[in-house]
Amino acid sequence: SIAHEINQPLAAVITSGESCKRWINRAEPNLDEARRSLDRIIQNSARVSDVITCIRALSRQSEVQRQIEVFDEIVSDSLTLMQHDICMQQVRPHTQLGAPGARIQGDRIQLQQVIINLIVNACQAMANVHDRARTLRIQTSVQDNEAVLEITDSGTGIAEDILPSLFDPFFTTKPTGLGMGLSICRSIIEFHGGRIWVSSEVGVGTQFLFAIALMPVSHDE
Ligand code: ADP
Repeated sequence: SIAHEINQPLAAVITSGESCKRWINRAEPNLDEARRSLDRIIQNSARVSDVITCIRALSRQSEVQRQIEVFDEIVSDSLTLMQHDICMQQVRPHTQLGAPGARIQGDRIQLQQVIINLIVNACQAMANVHDRARTLRIQTSVQDNEAVLEITDSGTGIAEDILPSLFDPFFTTKPTGLGMGLSICRSIIEFHGGRIWVSSEVGVGTQFLFAIALMPVSHDE
């Protein structure tokens, strides 16, 4: 599927390059059409570049840090980074950090990447919601020796038949989506020995959850 995702825009670059040449080589060159071809070349090249960035993010898994981190701090830092975006989209965030002191072992930056991705998706799912409040609930807890994060939105929801494909690489329902976000999220969470899952109801909203094992409490402290 990676080959397909790269070959498709590359083929479009070649076709647009050829038609650009034709528009310019005419007795009376049509610069407007040539410009449009160039725009398509730029757009498609940017897409190839995005795909490669995502693949690099996946292959970097092997170099992840394994530090002891306070789970709630990772979540609140991610929220701080996203505060502006959330406000801009008229989304009301409700945060409940209910895992004080819970520590996990992992890569802070990568886990923030997961949380930010889930928040961006949640906000995008609420962009067309006008008949109810756009609420984003972010809640942490400790359950059965795991730190759990729940991100709940009041967005469009997800049809039951596509739920099993959500975490597949390149699965997207967005016109310009890349469909790598959730696939990267899952790979990061699984690398941390955790699990990520989703529940959703069309017209009501979606809830993404992930759980990562807690660090055992040291008795020397
Ligand atoms: P992308 O955002 O590029 O489409 P993702 O892998 O992040 O890629 O998401 C895959 C698909 O999952 C999205 O296209 C969308 O259909 C669905 N999705 C993800 N998060 C949500 C959400 N919070 N609400 C509704 N649909 C979602």
